[in-house]
Amino acid sequence: MTRLDRIQLAILGLAGCTLSAVVIPNVVKARRTPSTNACIANLKSMQGAIEQLAVEHQLTPTNRVTLEDISGGADKYIKQAINVGLKCPVDGTYSVTTVGELPRCSTATAGHAL
Ligand SMILES: [Zn+2]
Repeated sequence: MTRLDRIQLAILGLAGCTLSAVVIPNVVKARRTPSTNACIANLKSMQGAIEQLAVEHQLTPTNRVTLEDISGGADKYIKQAINVGLKCPVDGTYSVTTVGELPRCSTATAGHAL
């Protein structure tokens, strides 16, 4: 193997690694089902609502938060009540605990998680 061959091989290896780094995450994302994506969007909305609540009420990460704190009324961050109007597409149940914890779906094993 000549020096030029080694350099060409190294360049091909680098190109392959770079391409994998770009392509593999996109393939993983594309494998998510529409219902998983919808659930993740709901969880992101809930997380955004918790962040707004925390800023407006100067809450710390350990402060407890409930679904009723963020949803279910015209004066809430999410108008629809969570688990009633805003539901997981495969009937998982949403829950929140503290400002610092991410909202959860009971079907997290199916990828329904932030
Ligand atoms: Zn879900």
